[in-house]
Amino acid sequence: MAKVVRAIVLLLLLMTAALFGADNPYALPLSTIIIDAGHGGHDPGASRSFEGSLIVERELTLDIALRLERLLNDAHPLLHVVMTRTDDRYLTLEERGRIAYQTVLPPKTSALLLSIHINSAVHSAAQGFEVFTKLKDKEVPLLDATTPKEHIALFSKHNKKELNALLFEETRRVAAAVSGALVKGLPMQVNRGIKEQDLWVLNAARMPAVLVEVGFLSNDEELALLLDPQYRETIALALFHAIEELLPT
Ligand SMILES: [Zn+2]
Repeated sequence: MAKVVRAIVLLLLLMTAALFGADNPYALPLSTIIIDAGHGGHDPGASRSFEGSLIVERELTLDIALRLERLLNDAHPLLHVVMTRTDDRYLTLEERGRIAYQTVLPPKTSALLLSIHINSAVHSAAQGFEVFTKLKDKEVPLLDATTPKEHIALFSKHNKKELNALLFEETRRVAAAVSGALVKGLPMQVNRGIKEQDLWVLNAARMPAVLVEVGFLSNDEELALLLDPQYRETIALALFHAIEELLPT
């Protein structure tokens, strides 16, 4: 009987290894970071009047994204950093996803997408940062006619269900790194946790992707912080540390 149990355990371990092992195309060494500054152009995102001027999310997300790009480029010149936008322009969610998954990766490497947003709520008391991932059980199309041909061999070893499971595992790892780095980098702020949500940009990226809401425009205290360039640098630095943690050593 013990032999049977051992055989079953071994079989399960082998199956797990086959599913989550070296074949996971999303867990290959990270070569490429896609940074997505939320909103832009005629889409301001969250907005709020403050001391006679209109504060808009699209400007703050771009500022943090550009700071993060600079930190990554300075410290890791070989890392491929791709920005969905570097100025105040409008991009559809589909275009952001396409920029992410159509970026051709160096062989046997992987990418991740980090989408940066600022929150807003009806109740001004709401505060803190939170990290969103795709839904665990949401199957997104990962291979189709628009997949770069260089990537097809990498992903074609798995069926759609397996790929989605592998993608979610890696996404959770990225989310944990981002959330952990924000907890460390912004120790005075409220950690609202990691949440699964059906967000277009996360599904469309077709790679480990997280959306981070770094604070609330609607909260007086956080608005004051977000207007301070030094605080935006602190946020960018926390995101930078999260990415550093995920880079191959
Ligand atoms: Zn937003």
